[in-house]
Amino acid sequence: MFEAVIGLEVHLHLKTRTKMFCGCPADPFGAPPNAHVCPVCLGLPGALPVPNRKAVEYGLRLALALGAEVPDRLVFHRKNYFYPDLPKNYQISQYDLPLGRGGALPLEGRQVRIRRLHLEEDAGKSLHLEGRTLLDLNRAGSPLIELVTEPDLRTPEEARLFLQRIQALVQTLGISDASPEEGKLRADVNISLRRPGEPLGTKVEVKNLNSFKGVQRALEYEIRRQTELLRRGERVKQATLGFEEGSGKTYPMRTKEEEADYRYFPEPDLPPVPVPRAWLAEVRAGLPELPWAKEERYRALGIKEKDAEALAYAPALSRFLDQALSFGLASPQALANWLLVDLVGLLNERGLALEATRLTPLAFARLVALFERGEITSRVAKGLLPELLEGQDPEALVRARGLGVVADEEALRRLVEEVIAAMPEAAESVRQGKIKALDALLGQVMRKTQGQARPDLVRRLLREALGVG
Ligand code: ADP
Ligand code: MG
Ligand code: ZN
Repeated sequence: MFEAVIGLEVHLHLKTRTKMFCGCPADPFGAPPNAHVCPVCLGLPGALPVPNRKAVEYGLRLALALGAEVPDRLVFHRKNYFYPDLPKNYQISQYDLPLGRGGALPLEGRQVRIRRLHLEEDAGKSLHLEGRTLLDLNRAGSPLIELVTEPDLRTPEEARLFLQRIQALVQTLGISDASPEEGKLRADVNISLRRPGEPLGTKVEVKNLNSFKGVQRALEYEIRRQTELLRRGERVKQATLGFEEGSGKTYPMRTKEEEADYRYFPEPDLPPVPVPRAWLAEVRAGLPELPWAKEERYRALGIKEKDAEALAYAPALSRFLDQALSFGLASPQALANWLLVDLVGLLNERGLALEATRLTPLAFARLVALFERGEITSRVAKGLLPELLEGQDPEALVRARGLGVVADEEALRRLVEEVIAAMPEAAESVRQGKIKALDALLGQVMRKTQGQARPDLVRRLLREALGVG
């Protein structure tokens, strides 16, 4: 009876070498606390920021991929607030001239509209330990993109899928690892309920979710909580909430600053950054094939809809598939099947990433081709996959171990004659129309070939030999 209305604010950590406004390394991982800091990101008096050109370019890539409008100059603003892990007591962000406005992300046949995206710097990290708070400022000043959607999402699953699509997109663009577990993709979710057709209801914002599952669970919880309130005739209070993984519940956080509290004003230490159209054109020309275009291409190649979608939004798999396809050895659908079912299954079982194995797209394509040409059975192909992960060559393995299917019809026909002669009763039954008796003969031929013959071929040869068409 109520419909959920959901809008997301997504923070993506950009994969630049250096921070947004200084030369410190941008990736805080692996360094001891406070190793990656300098006067600029520590906010020391007199230190001056310099915008990171690569970060702007990465931002432009995303803006263009989403079809957002990019202004001809970017302006940075100060967003003032006090927090221990924010050394300058303000964050350099963007306000009225952001990196991009508008655009959309295709999702299940719909378009989820993007309101805006802007560049900003990350804060540091507070570690609360036994009543003390420790600060690690390695992350302070790292480049972030914040992307804000219109309230176009309707279900928790959809919100989660949207984030997964954004993750695939930025990974495809090569601008962010977007790994939630590393804090490189974080989301705030806004949700209200209404009766379908009514104006938007009062929303709450659940802040700082750092897993896809967390996003979905927080939204599910809020839907339950708000539904109960509205059913009882009460109102939803506008609020900023946190989410506790353990209990699966949201809880009130600080009362949120109003926009005026941030006292946004243009950053006086940074002149506007011009975005010449020629630069924009260059960035656009350098965009890789986007996931939704990939999906179309896979479908045009005859790959099933579901598979085309799964592959197009899995950057590592689709890169691998594209190379495997380029050899023209195996059919697209067979490659897709073996990739999505057998290979992914095996990788999951072993907790391995495709890139961490020695399997090459060529070896993979050759394995699938051996199977497609009927030279090995699917059982044999599956059995070889683990060794292919270790860099082995499929043809060499098949040859060395005699795993090839007996595909030589002449040889098989002689075997079939032998088996018929050895099992006259079964043969007679088949001739008299008891087709089921064929299975016994088939089983015997398969045994003689150590299971390497193609059952459909043997069956045909048996039927021919016994005159049962
Ligand atoms: P705020 O000023 O509280 O940050 P905004 O209008 O900037 O709110 O919107 C922030 C996010 O909340 C956007 O993603 C937007 O789509 C979403 N949003 C706005 N109004 C609603 C609503 N009534 N219900 C759900 N989401 C909303
Ligand atoms: Mg907001
Ligand atoms: Zn620095």
